[in-house]
Amino acid sequence: KRRIGVMTSGGDAPGMNGAVRAVVRMSIAQNCEVYAIYEGYEGLVQGGDMIKEMGWDDVRGFLSEGGTLIGTARCKSFMERPGRLIAAKNMIVKGIDALIICGGDGSLTGADKFRKEWPGLLEELIQKQELTEEQVEPFKHLNIVGLVGSIDNDLSMTDATIGCYSSLGRICESVDYIDATAFSHQRAFVIEVMGRHCGWLALMAGVSCGADFVFLPENPPPLDWEDDMCKIIKKHRELGKRKTIVIVAEGAHDRYLKKISPAHVRDLLTNKLHLDTRITTLGHVQRGGTACAYDRMLSTLQGAEAVKAVLEATPETPSPVICMIENKIVRRPLLEAVKQTHEVAEAIAAKDFDRAMSLRDAE
Ligand code: ATP
Repeated sequence: KRRIGVMTSGGDAPGMNGAVRAVVRMSIAQNCEVYAIYEGYEGLVQGGDMIKEMGWDDVRGFLSEGGTLIGTARCKSFMERPGRLIAAKNMIVKGIDALIICGGDGSLTGADKFRKEWPGLLEELIQKQELTEEQVEPFKHLNIVGLVGSIDNDLSMTDATIGCYSSLGRICESVDYIDATAFSHQRAFVIEVMGRHCGWLALMAGVSCGADFVFLPENPPPLDWEDDMCKIIKKHRELGKRKTIVIVAEGAHDRYLKKISPAHVRDLLTNKLHLDTRITTLGHVQRGGTACAYDRMLSTLQGAEAVKAVLEATPETPSPVICMIENKIVRRPLLEAVKQTHEVAEAIAAKDFDRAMSLRDAE
């Protein structure tokens, strides 16, 4: 029987539990044994009780739950080869030769690195007499399959990551609450949302909530944005709007890469337009709560596809990541998706915003 490990890693996202549930149940349906690795790579490095066999009933009730019930962590030791050596030993001791990882680009990069190093790690384990050749023999190839769990929708090559629509829904709901009080007092609100390198949440929240102005990391405003923003908001007020909503992505900056702070935006609206202006930082409510219907559906379909990908993998197939493109669940090479994702961040850091935007458009 194949033994498949499943873990969640990096920042938590609603829908991760749905992915674990789907992997567990699809594995069992395909006559495999399946193990949950608790606390991300930390569980893989610690081994023992952190790697537990899962039965059908162990994931009952997982589908709607937010966060990740098997835990996640940032694991420093897995970043270094000695940590990955211990992780490899723990996997072989448990008889696991396939890993399905639900996480962000960092987690998926780590997974692919682990797969590349795998033959060398096995050799080292034999040399150090941690394991015998006979023990290692059945585990010559490691299969890795990625599932993208991230509220930011920041991975290239997929239209939606697991968690982004739950988070967008939460932002819209929160802005609706703010709208009521803003309208009543004719106030302005500057709302900071998550997104360090990716403005998807800010942009989609802007569209969904009818915001007056949105600041994104990929497309910083022109240098005279202060006058520009005030002109637009003044016009909206003259047209009879009683409230003003400005959305700032946490990674938003101007063309000099100077952070656009909500406090600075508030001061402009207060001093130049004389609006009673408040700041709301939505913070971690954006991550929490139950998974929306879309994320339950996405995580279930993708989790099932991930198990299929494990069973169909050959030593030559590059590690796949399970994506959603034009409403279809598809596999793409994991490393290429991560590479494209990093290219956007690099373009922003190099102030090449045309390139950042064209990469986003190409997505
Ligand atoms: P998010 O985008 O939500 O932050 P992420 O998966 O990108 O999620 P990271 O903190 O970058 O989150 O990565 C999670 C864990 O994956 C790290 O703590 C580390 O254990 C492992 N990891 C990340 N990058 C690497 C790498 N280059 N090599 C080995 N392991 C890595």
